[in-house]
Amino acid sequence: MTYSKIQSELFRSLPKIDELSKNAPPSCPHQVAVRAARLVVEELRELIKTAPQEAKKKLERANVEDLYLSRVRQLLTPSLRPVINATGVVIHTNLGRSLIPKEILEEMAEIGSRYSNLEFDLEKGVRGSRYVHVEDILCEITGAPAALVVNNNAAAVLLVLSTFAKGKEVVVSRSELVEIGGSFRIPDVMKQSGAILREVGATNRTHLRDFEDNICEDTALLLKVHQSNFKILGFTKSVSVKELRLLADKYGLLVFEDLGSGSFVDFSKYGMEYEPTVQEALRAGADIVSFSGDKLLGGPQAGIILGSEEVIAQIRKNPLNRALRIDKFTLAALEGILRLYRDEEKARAIIPTLRMLTEAPDITKKRATRLLRRLRRTKNKGLRFTLIPSIGRVGGGALPLQELPSYGVRVETVEDQGLSPHELEESLRYLDPPIIARIDENGLILDAKTLLDGDIPIIEKVFRRL
Ligand SMILES: *Cc1c(COP(=O)(O)O)cnc(C)c1O
Repeated sequence: MTYSKIQSELFRSLPKIDELSKNAPPSCPHQVAVRAARLVVEELRELIKTAPQEAKKKLERANVEDLYLSRVRQLLTPSLRPVINATGVVIHTNLGRSLIPKEILEEMAEIGSRYSNLEFDLEKGVRGSRYVHVEDILCEITGAPAALVVNNNAAAVLLVLSTFAKGKEVVVSRSELVEIGGSFRIPDVMKQSGAILREVGATNRTHLRDFEDNICEDTALLLKVHQSNFKILGFTKSVSVKELRLLADKYGLLVFEDLGSGSFVDFSKYGMEYEPTVQEALRAGADIVSFSGDKLLGGPQAGIILGSEEVIAQIRKNPLNRALRIDKFTLAALEGILRLYRDEEKARAIIPTLRMLTEAPDITKKRATRLLRRLRRTKNKGLRFTLIPSIGRVGGGALPLQELPSYGVRVETVEDQGLSPHELEESLRYLDPPIIARIDENGLILDAKTLLDGDIPIIEKVFRRL
């Protein structure tokens, strides 16, 4: 590769790593100062190759120093940090799903910073089990005879299939071979577990006889999977857990339902779509149910498995269980959240996911109005703010068609050459803290459904700097 004369000159004018790193603030660790210098020089070198004119401008002394200092700042900022969720999507998997209430974080801090009875039986003075701390309360709330918690629901599904269907067949409807996102697909998880998939029925309709016709001596389990993130509408038929139960009894099989979200609360009471609760799934006759801790439950990332004492004892003995086990912070958080469910009103008031999902629209409107007032106070002449009705979403795959009545503030740039909604959305992501907004066909919206009260003054402050 040959370079032009200008490019060769620019290469020669690149700053030296040790010279550049002298610009770091005194508190910056040496290795960070040097790494930032290397990154900046590398970046400029690439730019000279592809856009020499642009590189020339950036190579001016003051510009290089600015570039360097912003790179240092970036390296010194933690990678995982808080953002403001203005999308209106309550269980937003990319933004951390459910929020843990402050009072429960205090309990977690206590457990994390001190020794605990994590695996110690205080009555007998011998080694105990970490699972007892949440098993009792799970059984109390759901009526299940026994319970086990693991790292997440994907792990729960893997563990259940591996325990009861390794080398055996699992019958499941074609309409339930779900992909959740990331790379979680039911057929792939089944392969990992060693179970053999026997898919039955058609995409839109599966009958009980489809299940019965496909049961053979290798069949171990009948599986039902929640249709997360999608719905099949129109000419449809599916087989209920109640019907699967009858079949399972006839042939001596187990029924396992992957509930996905899993909720203890009947959300239809709050004007939302009806979705069977965990308690109802158990009453319908599933031997085993599993669900996430951080979806509709509103707790920490976890996978909860409920079933008979015999079934849970067998799962517990699976060596995979050790690899998928839950840590003490999660246990502390989960126990705290579960205890709140003893009083549904209290749970609704304190657990952020439940509060947002069941919040009355006039409360959301008040928050949006407060946001509007604060934004107007910034006197940002380049932006126009308008209060609008909006539609929030549940997220997390649960209740995929449910619309949540909400309010928000539309943000527009006023001049003719103002920013497009996409440019505006991008610039909000670069703020500190970043604001994650939503774009629809009419422009950019800050949805008040998912804003925390403390977010509003922060939004005002960062908008002043925009
Ligand atoms: C979300 C979901 C999972 C995975 O749960 P995680 O807790 O995210 O691991 C599995 N199955 C269904 C049906 C789901 O909706």
